[in-house]
Parts: sequence; structure tokens; C-alpha cells
Amino acid sequence: MKAKTTTAMAIQEKLTSYLIIGAGSFGASTALALKKAEPDAHITVIDRTPFPCPYAAAHDVNKICRGDYGDLMYMKLAIRSMESWTADPLYSRHFHNSGMLYAYDDAYLRTIIANWEAIYGEGNAPSHLLDLTDAKQRFGGIFENADWSAAERSLWSPQAERLKHSPVMALMATLPAESLPPGDDRVLKCMNDTGFSNNVYHEPSKQKLSIPPSKVSQLTWSQDMPQVLKDELRTIGQELHGGLLSKLVPTYYRMCWDGFTPNQDFIICAHPHAQNLYIVGGGSFHACEFLPVMGDIVVQMLRGELDGEMERRFAWDRPNDGHNSHFSTLQIEISVIYGVRRAFDRDST
Ligand SMILES: Cc1cc2nc3c(=O)[nH]c(=O)nc-3n(C[C@H](O)[C@H](O)[C@H](O)COP(=O)(O)OP(=O)(O)OC[C@H]3O[C@@H](n4cnc5c(N)ncnc54)[C@H](O)[C@@H]3O)c2cc1C
Repeated sequence: MKAKTTTAMAIQEKLTSYLIIGAGSFGASTALALKKAEPDAHITVIDRTPFPCPYAAAHDVNKICRGDYGDLMYMKLAIRSMESWTADPLYSRHFHNSGMLYAYDDAYLRTIIANWEAIYGEGNAPSHLLDLTDAKQRFGGIFENADWSAAERSLWSPQAERLKHSPVMALMATLPAESLPPGDDRVLKCMNDTGFSNNVYHEPSKQKLSIPPSKVSQLTWSQDMPQVLKDELRTIGQELHGGLLSKLVPTYYRMCWDGFTPNQDFIICAHPHAQNLYIVGGGSFHACEFLPVMGDIVVQMLRGELDGEMERRFAWDRPNDGHNSHFSTLQIEISVIYGVRRAFDRDST
């Protein structure tokens, strides 16, 4: 009996337990990867609401998965992720390969091509540059009347042309913008990619922090959107698709909140001071596409096996130089958009 108890205790000591706070992109992916890596581990995931939480950044009608990064490390990671999105039945049933079209400045698009060629060799980039006039004539003419006057060049990432008449469209124009083609739900999603913050005083740390509002309508799909932002979306619709959208009125709007780091590198590291506490976040509006690989990276971090570049770039204390996203560094305080602070209060409704 005594021997049994000792053995049981020894097993108990060997068993690891993990508490994951938040079942969004990082938390869900980490839970799955941990379960695969340590089948006997006890893993608990908690969230604010039953899964899926409608306030999560990950909760949406659709997301963009792209390989075209101006940053080589993320491009390589995106290639790994895309293998799962296209081949792993867990992910592939949610993945619709529409291709993606960019109308951006020439220099940035050339960096993307250079990165593809660094991986696949000269002349083997899967994306290619197009003149804007050429791009507009493609895709069944759906961009014929679009106003891309602020862009210089176009980049087409075909991957596969299953929905070739409506690719994901990314445009650097008056405002940075994107649109995602309708799926079976026939919802067309248009985005204003201008970043904004919501700084409020945080009593426990006695500093101002940008945090999401607690008002549910300002976290989820609703009509609770400053008129100026609604107006900007109309401009964006015109620039992205020309007259095609002129008679359409958006059914609902959403303000998007995500943990945003100064250079958009994620944070995947041990807490610098608290033992057995780890920080995984800083999605910076591009973490969802890495869902299939994110958890594996967390497991590598927990085991001290992250490669040197990731260890340095995903650390808590880091230089934060450069930026891996082309346009998201713009920061406007949300109260400036509303004009008066009290219009954007922290009431819970
Ligand atoms: C509208 C929008 C569009 C986006 N589009 C894209 C895209 O096209 N492609 C792309 O790759 N990325 C996109 N992103 C970014 C991507 O969704 C995020 O980077 C990613 O989801 C971040 O993952 P996360 O786990 O840190 O946060 P989340 O996905 O927000 O998950 C965090 C979870 O933690 C929970 N939580 C918070 N506080 C607590 C608490 N106190 N206790 C318990 N649980 C808590 C939340 O409820 C939530 O479920 C978009 C983001 C938004 C908001």
C-alpha cells in the first residue's frame, strides 16, 4: 500500500498542469499543441464567456491568411501555416483560396517579391507584379471603376484561382483598406485598416493604458460606430470597388481590438519576473493566420527550443525596432474620432 502511494505521488509529480487564460487564437492553438506534445498533461482553458467568446479578436466572419510578407521570418512562418490551411482537414475545411490582390507602393511590393525569391530562388516567386491598369482589367472587371489613384503598383498572389472573380483586396489609398470576398454567407467584409487606441487610466498600475472598451456594442458587430468612421467606410468601398458598392449600405459594423506591439512582432516568452508565468499575445492584427503553427511555437518556447531570431523578436524586453506590417503603425486616439470623450464611455451595456 505504501509503495503504491509513493508511486502515485511520483506520477502525480511528473504530471504537468497548464492553465491557459483566453481561448482566442493563441490560447486555443496552444492548448491543442500542448495536448499533442504532452498527452498526459492536465490542460485547462478559461475565457470570459462560453466558447467562442464574441469579444475575442479571433471571433469574426472571416480572416485573411497571406504569405506576402515584407518580413522574411513571418513569410517563412506563413508558408508553414499555409501548409496546414491547405492540407490538414482540421483547417482546410475553413480555408477558401481566393488569391489576394494588393494595390500598394512599388517599393514595398518589390520587397515581398525579393523575400519570395530569397526562399524559392530567383524568378520563382509565387506572386507577381502587375501594372494597375492590367490588374483592373482582370477578375471579370470587378475593379474596373475602382479608385486606386493613390497606389503605385499591384501584386497578385494567385496561389489558386478558385474564386478568381473576387480576390481578397488590399489597397493603400487615401486610407489603408482591405476587403474579403463573400463566402456562402454572401457577406462582403470591408475594412478600414487605420489603427486607433483607447487610452484610459489603469488604477492598479497607475498609468494610462490602451485597452478595449467594456461596452459590448463597441466590441461586437453593431451600429455603435462613430459616424465619421461609417463615412470613411463608404469612401473605402468606393476606392476598393468603385460604383459596385455605391447602393449597398453596411448591415453592421465592428471596431476591432487586438493587442498591438510597436513593431507588430508577437510576444511569446516567459514573464521576466514571475516563475511559471508565460505571456503569449501581441497579435497585432495578423496572428489568426498563424493558428496552425502558433501553438507549436509556444511549446518550443516552453521547452527553451525557440530559434534565435524568434527568441529575440518574441521576447518581452526587446528593441522593438522596425515594423513587419506595412501600414498598421498609424495610431489615432479613439476619443479624437468621437470628438468628446464621454461619447466613448466605459458603460457596460
Ligand atoms: C476585426 C479583426 C480582424 C482581424 N483580421 C485578421 C486577419 O484577417 N488575419 C489575421 O491573421 N489576423 C487578423 N486579426 C488579428 C487576430 O484576430 C488577432 O491577432 C488574434 O486573434 C490575437 O489572438 P489572441 O489570442 O491574443 O487574442 P483573442 O483572439 O482576442 O483571444 C483572447 C481571448 O482571451 C479572452 N480573455 C480576455 N480577458 C480575459 C480574462 N480576464 N479572463 C479570461 N479570458 C479572457 C478573450 O475573451 C478572448 O477569447 C484581426 C483582428 C480583428 C480584431
